Amino acid sequence: MTKTVQDYIRTIPDFPHEGIMFRDVTTLFADPRGFRMAIDQLLHPYAGVRFDKVVGLEARGFILGGAVAHQLSAGFVPVRKKGKLPGKTISQKYSLEYGEAEVELHDDAIQPGERVLIVDDLLATGGTAEAGIKLVEQLGGEIIGCAFIVDLPELGGRARLEAMGFDIHVLCQYD
Ligand code: IMP
Repeated sequence: MTKTVQDYIRTIPDFPHEGIMFRDVTTLFADPRGFRMAIDQLLHPYAGVRFDKVVGLEARGFILGGAVAHQLSAGFVPVRKKGKLPGKTISQKYSLEYGEAEVELHDDAIQPGERVLIVDDLLATGGTAEAGIKLVEQLGGEIIGCAFIVDLPELGGRARLEAMGFDIHVLCQYD
């Protein structure tokens, strides 16, 4: 039987903490067929849609975002954890289960009116994606879509971003 994207994803129990089922996409990325299938499926809803920039969220969003940007003939822009980008940045804090995190974007990475696709491997609470969206919007970018390999619907990220009016595309879900 033909394998699906989900078939290539490995689950590691108790990583990074006890009780967490970590959905490990490195096995998907490492497989020639799996990686191509994932990129093709991420792109599927956007045939004929013009994008200026693909914004990848650190770190697996960089791997996906580079391939997606190449296919769309768009530029690639990283949203990075605080302190990693060398130029002048804008930053956005967001809450984690325990504590806070902060992500940054170069302040000249998106021009006002540019059409943006947000890409990451996994959507859980949506906090990371929302922080990336806010950074892009702060620079005047227009979010046309947000694409993820994995959705964890119980954590509510998709519902949260859809309620904000964003168009969300996911390839597979885990309960
Ligand atoms: P959120 O901000 O709660 O939506 O969490 C999503 C972020 O956490 C993404 O950048 C993911 O890469 C990362 N993440 C959370 N859980 C997992 C997992 O099970 N596998 C891979 N990445 C995860």
